[in-house]
Amino acid sequence: MKTIACLIFAIPSLLFGQASPVKDYPMRNIPKDDPRFQSVLQSLNSQRNHGNKEVITIIQHSSGSDYLARIGESPSIVLLKNVEGKWADNDQFQGTASPTGDLYEYSNVLGAKRTVRVFTMLREITPDELILRLKNGETFSINKGMTNVPCTTCEGRKTATINGKKTYCRTCSGQGVATVPQRVNVLWGVAVPIEPRP
Ligand SMILES: [Zn+2]
Repeated sequence: MKTIACLIFAIPSLLFGQASPVKDYPMRNIPKDDPRFQSVLQSLNSQRNHGNKEVITIIQHSSGSDYLARIGESPSIVLLKNVEGKWADNDQFQGTASPTGDLYEYSNVLGAKRTVRVFTMLREITPDELILRLKNGETFSINKGMTNVPCTTCEGRKTATINGKKTYCRTCSGQGVATVPQRVNVLWGVAVPIEPRP
């Protein structure tokens, strides 16, 4: 895949709906104080901050930073992990939570067993936490800059045939390419040379 980063802003056709290519972005060789590290961290955290904030209602403390809670309008109780701060029953705050896919079983006051879904609070990741989580094999998907892909309408031919007449492709304004966000899969990765910053 060829990234023509320096030409991006000269090309007027910004087309959405075109498939976004994904490439791996290994972080192993990038030190914490490198601008590339900071840029990845910033993208990750701004993505998280733009998640839909909802009212979270504390039902009761479970253990450590885990609380039984309700998220938004949903009547279901969930186990909410990684809650910052100390909260009392019925306290409410705004936050973004996402399901972990796990289930949690507890006994209610009557001794009956209940199984609830586990959610975790999304919050800003620190540089050290990012390194640790990458080392543990986690990957993070972010948009990093833009890239050009062949126009899917004309398949890069730049031309179209309308009413039997050959004309330029309207989708890509005859450029043959579409400019799409570059999807990047941030991972710890193997010790391979890192591409220069666009
Ligand atoms: Zn086209």
